Amino acid sequence: MDKNFQEQFAGVIKFTPPLYKQRYQFVKDLVEKYKPKKVADLGCADCTLLWMLKYCSCIEVLAGLDSCASVMKEKMYKLSPLPVDYLQPAQRSLTITLHHGSVACKDPCMLGFDLVTCIELIEHLEESELNKFPEVVFGFMSPSIVVISTPNSDFNPLLKGVTLFRHPDHKFEWNQVQFQSWALETAARYNYSVEFTGVGLPPTGMEKVGFCTQIAVFVRKYSETSESAQLEKPLEAVYKTVFKAVYPSLKDERYLQNAVVSEVIFTIQIIKQNLLDCLMSEHKECNDDPTERKSKFHPSMNRFSEDLRKLVVEKSLESFVNGNVAYIPLATIFSFPKVNRLCGTFEKLCKLIAGKVTLSSDGSAVVFNIEH
Ligand code: SAH
Repeated sequence: MDKNFQEQFAGVIKFTPPLYKQRYQFVKDLVEKYKPKKVADLGCADCTLLWMLKYCSCIEVLAGLDSCASVMKEKMYKLSPLPVDYLQPAQRSLTITLHHGSVACKDPCMLGFDLVTCIELIEHLEESELNKFPEVVFGFMSPSIVVISTPNSDFNPLLKGVTLFRHPDHKFEWNQVQFQSWALETAARYNYSVEFTGVGLPPTGMEKVGFCTQIAVFVRKYSETSESAQLEKPLEAVYKTVFKAVYPSLKDERYLQNAVVSEVIFTIQIIKQNLLDCLMSEHKECNDDPTERKSKFHPSMNRFSEDLRKLVVEKSLESFVNGNVAYIPLATIFSFPKVNRLCGTFEKLCKLIAGKVTLSSDGSAVVFNIEH
């Protein structure tokens, strides 16, 4: 590289957003593209990438692995469910687990992943670990996709203060030719295709140095049959699990039942208010005070349930009143979109609300008192 040209840039290169965020965004975009259900981040450090990925709704299993337990524990609390996750359980299930161990060792807990990410990991590996790494990740774990990022040493002359390596813990830094030949050889050995890209664009006129962070995306060429998966299933656990969070999900019958019963009770309240409102207006029409004819809905109900109230009116209340008791057919309740979406089938609705709301003797309607 021309020394004068190089000096023109050294130290003035600043990436916006910062390079580490561009790397994480690259992974997020990959997740949006391939929609993996199970993702493992190797060398997850303080779990920032995992924390970002927990918001990707396609992911159901997230795992992190690092050989340094203390760095993982620093912010692992950020991976725990929040109160809102309990108040409004998500449709998908999500389990997040953190393991303490080395990528140079095989552990059965790392099997079955769709995407494995190794962001700025390989340059931290000792030679002996780097030699074992391809067999562990591509041979043993054999996910559909592997993404590996590492510093591109061709870019280093443009970075201020970088003499040998960008970080004191780096064991090596490869240029583009070194990284690509390692990646191509690994891909060929384990039957993957590989494409190269990166983040951190070089300055105009210096395109030859390539991206500041070089990235290889490997895609498995064969689809793993259950037989080939079985061949590799062995081994005792060598990693230590240091964290596990199971998020509340509507796939769990307990949370689904809570959500359905709450929604049914809420729907019944709206219907009941509407019914009372109608009855009151009828009653008032016979009396003399017209100012009293406005809605009897509680103000907060009016605000939050306008859509539901409209629905109740549209459905012209397929309920009937017998003295002080009103009956709303379960079929009517099932036809409300949210109840319908949650339950899926009418039988499921009946099963989930059994014993939780008062039903008519034949079980076909919800019963409530409208004594006023
Ligand atoms: N992926 C993170 C962290 C990169 S730093 C990010 O992009 O920000 C590299 C991480 O790899 C460190 O946390 C280090 O503890 C971990 N590491 C080093 N050798 C390892 C090994 N053999 N197995 C697993 N993790 C390792």
